[in-house]
Amino acid sequence: MSRLLIIGCGGVAQVAIQKCCQNSEVFTEIMIASRTKSKCDEMKARLEGKTNTLIETAQVDADKVEELIALIQSYQPDAVLNVALPYQDLTIMDACLACKVDYIDTANYEAEDTEDPVWRAIYEKRCKELGFSAYFDYSWQWAYRERFEEAGITALLGSGFDPGVTSVYTAYALKHYFDEIHTIDILDCNGGDHGYAFATNFNPEINLREVSAPGSYWEDGRWVEVAPMSIKRTYDFPEVGMKDMYLLHHEEIESLAKNVPGIKRIRFFMTFGQSYLDHMRCLEDVGMLGTAPIMFEGREIVPIQFLKALLPDPATLGPRTVGKTNIGCIFTGVKDGVEKTIYIYNVCDHQECYKEVGSQAISYTTGVPAMIGAMLVVNGAWKKPGVFNVEEFDPDPYMDALNQWGLPWVVCENPKVVE
Ligand code: NDP
Repeated sequence: MSRLLIIGCGGVAQVAIQKCCQNSEVFTEIMIASRTKSKCDEMKARLEGKTNTLIETAQVDADKVEELIALIQSYQPDAVLNVALPYQDLTIMDACLACKVDYIDTANYEAEDTEDPVWRAIYEKRCKELGFSAYFDYSWQWAYRERFEEAGITALLGSGFDPGVTSVYTAYALKHYFDEIHTIDILDCNGGDHGYAFATNFNPEINLREVSAPGSYWEDGRWVEVAPMSIKRTYDFPEVGMKDMYLLHHEEIESLAKNVPGIKRIRFFMTFGQSYLDHMRCLEDVGMLGTAPIMFEGREIVPIQFLKALLPDPATLGPRTVGKTNIGCIFTGVKDGVEKTIYIYNVCDHQECYKEVGSQAISYTTGVPAMIGAMLVVNGAWKKPGVFNVEEFDPDPYMDALNQWGLPWVVCENPKVVE
């Protein structure tokens, strides 16, 4: 029996909400609170009569700590699931600290205004010290560790698919298959087709910022940064087929590099079609991916936010998207002195997801683990004072829950490795 406050009501949140409502023995009550309350009310109306979970809704601006505190104090949840945007991570963590309530999210903190001089000074120092230039990193949230310990509350960071499931796969591989893992290749393949010339599968602003940034990987104790999309490989994905994939910086590399003893290399690859890449390059060349405000006809606009308004809403891609995703990790290492390789992955079918929850597989593969992370915190299995990444807990209950809640996984021994 628990009461969960869910912040955000976009693509990922809508799946997480429905999964909580399927799991009403654990989530007896939920509140959906977001910037646009009408979306929360629509979600509640869709679910009423189909679930035993009691649903309430509220309007909240999650950029404002005081508003969040007032909402948490009035609803008294056992935990807060942040499925808004990475921009709100710190304000929601501040409110959880003030109210002594557990916190779960799916993406690490990113600054909305990357021109802010205070943020930029810290960012540039970090770029020099750590050697990667992504706008997002864990330092901001790891800095809450002592305060969460002292308050006796848990923050579970990155409980989506990647980060999230890929990090739990790593903990599972280490627990059951290896004495030491030496390399991890995280492969994120979307073999889906939505029929548009160009659209992003989740929040366009977050997605485009991620893929237009330099790539980087972890090797021999340091970051190696490379030009965007400059490392390309081809892989034959089970149930999807041959795809081109490109090396990206990705947030779980940072935490896995700290949490996997003896790790030598961690890389992340994502598949992209040529049309997506051509559109993105063109948008970038003309300045449409800019995050700094510009003046247009007497008012300030942020180019990437304007672009977001033009692109299809990812939440509407569900009915159009056909095909499958395959996301997983290839691990190499040693067990009992013998070298071995395994591949753990999940295949998810866009249309099956749409039939079940009205969303495509990208939202589904993130929303299900968000619910599972929240479940393990509220049922006590993963409750421990402090700030943690998912790979720091026992992976077994999470892996069981993935099979139970719609993301079954496969362990393949001796897979083809990536060059
Ligand atoms: P969407 O843009 O679809 O949804 C974001 C939601 O947050 C919207 O409901 C939006 O409200 C709400 N929101 C935004 N700002 C505020 C605010 N200030 N106060 C209150 N609510 C706010 O994003 P997605 O659902 O695609 O992504 C959600 C999260 O999931 C992101 O953090 C993303 O990075 C993460 N993610 C993680 C993945 C993983 O595998 N780990 C994969 C994919 C996504 P409104 O409706 O008014 O716009």
